[in-house]
Amino acid sequence: MSKKDYPPALILRYRALENAGEFDRKIVSSRPVSIDKDEVKFECGHKLNTTLLPIAEADDGKLYCRQCGQAWIDRALKDEGKPQ
Ligand SMILES: [Zn+2]
Repeated sequence: MSKKDYPPALILRYRALENAGEFDRKIVSSRPVSIDKDEVKFECGHKLNTTLLPIAEADDGKLYCRQCGQAWIDRALKDEGKPQ
């Protein structure tokens, strides 16, 4: 299933959680990988290559973890497919 096939209700739930900071994770380490990018490692174990600006502006040392967000979507899609 590609991203554009997500049910609208699921997208709305996801956005609400994202806005609430549900997928924000604490940065535990970061190392430079290029002139303008760092690879950060999150408390959840996921990694992200990002420019320095989001890191500098990280609220409370936290950044949005795309992989945790994706994991939520995958779980939600699976749950929706289950019979009630
Ligand atoms: Zn994560």
